[in-house]
Amino acid sequence: MEEKSYFKQFDIGFQSMKIGQHFQDLKITNEFFEMYENDVVTDANIDIHIDIERLENMVIMHFHFSGTLTSTCDLCLEKVIIPVEKTEKLILKIVEAPQESDDENIFYVTEKEHSFNVEQITYEYIMMSLPMKIEHSNEGEDRCNPKMLELLRQAEKKPETTEIDSRWEALKNLKLDS
Ligand SMILES: [Zn+2]
Repeated sequence: MEEKSYFKQFDIGFQSMKIGQHFQDLKITNEFFEMYENDVVTDANIDIHIDIERLENMVIMHFHFSGTLTSTCDLCLEKVIIPVEKTEKLILKIVEAPQESDDENIFYVTEKEHSFNVEQITYEYIMMSLPMKIEHSNEGEDRCNPKMLELLRQAEKKPETTEIDSRWEALKNLKLDS
């Protein structure tokens, strides 16, 4: 999909909306994270339903996220699936002149603007749902791979100088040969 058209699906065309309730649905796949060159997320499958309430000088949006992100477990380096189930509220205030907002959930738009693009904020909302430590919970089915843990443990035990030593060895041989 072309990047420009991908961006466009995030346009909320608030200006032409009649006063009342509207909605917009978005589907987030890994393509979205590839565009951001985000390699923490290795796969994504999230449905977003945005309930949009158009008032006279304001637009209230409720983002409902439902789906999963796939990332890599910090402990065993295998894939871990992170559920994303949450709601975020965003308010657009329609004003005459552009204004800065000091509230992260309130944006100002002018009467001249036709749409508001929610791509960046959607990305931020999703990234906020990633835990600080990405690892298997080790509860139920969500478990670290014990074989990988054992392999990693063994790798840590090995002295780290091996690689440097072999390079010195190569250098010494080089001097001798010349
Ligand atoms: Zn793990």
